Amino acid sequence: MRQVAFTTLGCKVNQFETEVMEGLFKSRGYEVVSFDRQADVYVINTCSVTNLGEKKSRQLIRRASRQNTNAVIAVAGCYSQISPDQVAQIEGVDVIVGTQDRARIVDLVEAVLANNRTVQVNAVADIMQASEFEDIPLFSIPGRTRAFLKIQEGCSNFCTYCIIPYARGPLRSRALASIAVETEKLVNAGFSEVVLTGIHLGAFGRDLSLDGKEISLVDAVDAVLTAGNKGLKRLRLGSLESIEVSESLISLMQTDPRLCLHLHLPLQSGNDKILKAMNRHYTTSEYRDLITGIKSRLPGLAATTDIIVGFPGESEELFESTLAFIRTMAFAKIHVFPYSRRTGTPAARLPGQIPEFEKKRRVQQLQNLADVQSRTFCESFIDRELDVLMETSEPEGVISGLTGNYIRVYTCGAQESIGQIHPVRLERLYKDGLWGRMI
Ligand code: SF4
Repeated sequence: MRQVAFTTLGCKVNQFETEVMEGLFKSRGYEVVSFDRQADVYVINTCSVTNLGEKKSRQLIRRASRQNTNAVIAVAGCYSQISPDQVAQIEGVDVIVGTQDRARIVDLVEAVLANNRTVQVNAVADIMQASEFEDIPLFSIPGRTRAFLKIQEGCSNFCTYCIIPYARGPLRSRALASIAVETEKLVNAGFSEVVLTGIHLGAFGRDLSLDGKEISLVDAVDAVLTAGNKGLKRLRLGSLESIEVSESLISLMQTDPRLCLHLHLPLQSGNDKILKAMNRHYTTSEYRDLITGIKSRLPGLAATTDIIVGFPGESEELFESTLAFIRTMAFAKIHVFPYSRRTGTPAARLPGQIPEFEKKRRVQQLQNLADVQSRTFCESFIDRELDVLMETSEPEGVISGLTGNYIRVYTCGAQESIGQIHPVRLERLYKDGLWGRMI
């Protein structure tokens, strides 16, 4: 039996796509082995979101090639989509696919094998012309407690710091019928929680709307909840743009307890001047009003966010205003990123680039504030009972999992509880979340 090994860089969407490709290889009789092992085929699913992501992608391609000089090396993902010629020049690379046409990856690899690796196949096409969601069914279900389901591809927001629209192309959505079919597969495989993901999830359905009939994310959510009627316990939404959270989505979150009380809404900066320079289409006060309104209707909601610090032109004063704005919010979690100067984006050419040491200092300062807000959010649930989906086995008989509102909970429990939802009485702060007692 031929062996194939995968490695993945980057976001949840990339991880999902690796799992889909693993399924394709398995369905053709390949054994999936760890990336450290000798394999006949290596697939490197690359990332291009930062210059560092590309560097790491190149390192992993070279590492695979050194591990087995006879193996077929296939490179997929955002880096190969953006820079196929660069990838083609790396020694040992046999197959290059970008962010579409992954359904053909096994055929492409086998074509190279049939030719004893004497030909290189470059299947990267112009992604800006892509018009359909590449619907690859799940052939094998990954063994985890939460299943990710990608329902949307592409982005046309063109934030000035981001290369993704050029790597992923225009908006494309998975058909509602396909979402229902994939959900049923995941539920039948025993998953309690499905997480909907996409590159620009809030734009789901825009390309499907027809003859005045609008299709939106709420329709996708509805499709999952209906298809999951026989066993889906939780549905979580991936990252959404704040201005795309609709009234109907909030109403659905109020009425269907399976929808997790968790919204990840990237803010990116707490300063309006920087938001404008980033080409983000909201102001800080609009963002705050929106979150305040949602929280008043959904008590217990975890609002989590992303912030980029050290964007070009972010003076000390502007950074201080971001800190001041965030102090007025109560985020359950903040992912803090230093601005990364990505070649090919408008922001990379802006004046006022911030030195790395200064970005590092700002990350630390904001991280301290983020930690305080996380603790405050967790503390507000002490002495309460929440359902926890157990996910991970920790040392010394401890297991941990997540509540619907994204608090990590640790408790004493048996291995058999993993994958199940248990009510837990929350007792005290512990590590990055709370310690509790299973009821
Ligand atoms: S919304 Fe902005 S940050 Fe997100 S993928 Fe699109 S361009 Fe990039």
